[in-house]
Amino acid sequence: MSAVPARGLPEAQPQSEPWTVLRTMLWSADYLKAKGVESARLDAEYLLAHVLGLGRLEMYLQHERPLTSRELDEFRPLLKRRAKREPLQYVLGRQAFRSLDLKVGPGVLIPRPETEQLVQVVLEWARAERATPVGVDVGAGRARPEPADLTGLDVGTGSGAIALALLTEGPFERFVGTDVSAAALGLAALNRDALGLNERLELRAGGLLEPVQSEERFDVVVSNPPYVSEQDRGALAPEIVDWEPAEALFGGSDGLSVIRSLVAGAGACLRPGGLLALEVGLGQAKAVAALMEAGGLYREVQIRRDLAGKERIVAATWSGSNIERGA
Ligand code: SAM
Ligand code: GLN
Repeated sequence: MSAVPARGLPEAQPQSEPWTVLRTMLWSADYLKAKGVESARLDAEYLLAHVLGLGRLEMYLQHERPLTSRELDEFRPLLKRRAKREPLQYVLGRQAFRSLDLKVGPGVLIPRPETEQLVQVVLEWARAERATPVGVDVGAGRARPEPADLTGLDVGTGSGAIALALLTEGPFERFVGTDVSAAALGLAALNRDALGLNERLELRAGGLLEPVQSEERFDVVVSNPPYVSEQDRGALAPEIVDWEPAEALFGGSDGLSVIRSLVAGAGACLRPGGLLALEVGLGQAKAVAALMEAGGLYREVQIRRDLAGKERIVAATWSGSNIERGA
């Protein structure tokens, strides 16, 4: 590990040598590394690029430029926050998710790449639902316009990532997003409004399926619920366990408590043939598939992998049996 100077950037000591872009970047990378940050160099670059209002590559063309005292004053507190292991995305206030650039911050889970694959699974199902039926002549070379009339429910919507991506990319007309966290719902509303989707995403506060009215039925129920087990708590990085909201992460002793309730209750919110799609934790997929198969009420239960090759998504269609919610 490289030695970190006792005095340096965060303490704002007067220095004879100017803090050029390159010197600031190298010093900050060493500083973050000494604090245990895994991607120290990259994070230092992102933070500096953010303050300078440049892309990372553009910044390389300005290596020798000294930072102004205003830029240094803006940079120091951001670097300190990251050194305390606050996630880079909270410090920058943003996270990319599929085609979206979402606002994130303390109080909301940072959307993960594996959840992009959950969106992909729902999209594939939705597009197949809305595909031209075999034998329909749409005219040579002309694509039939996709009716965008499906509805969805995103349970534990967090930043709104799943619902907003599906509204943007898929044949969906409307989503309802629910969450127990007021902070999450606040951020989801900001993201929704920034995308001009306020007419198409309705946010409701409440636990699990409780905010859904008894006569409401959706084409899709999708959720990335909290699923980390008590046993796995110790394996989480400080960025996660010390900073992200516990209610977004932990799903009881075996991690499956929220998932069990969703599998039991989602049918009453689905139209016959509608899709339930859940993200699950490592090693949970088979147990969750078994839960869906157990009552004989779901059909076409499938396990799908994320881009890292891990079994990550469990999906099934609702048989249409007439159960009452909460029964
Ligand atoms: N959907 C977002 C995403 O994929 O980035 C956030 C997912 S995060 C893993 C789980 C979310 O569920 C959190 O926003 C949390 O507040 C919410 N949550 C936890 N327990 C809940 C419950 N019983 N009912 C509704 N939402 C819940
Ligand atoms: N994928 C997250 C993590 O392990 C957990 C999110 C969740 O519980 N849904 O860091």
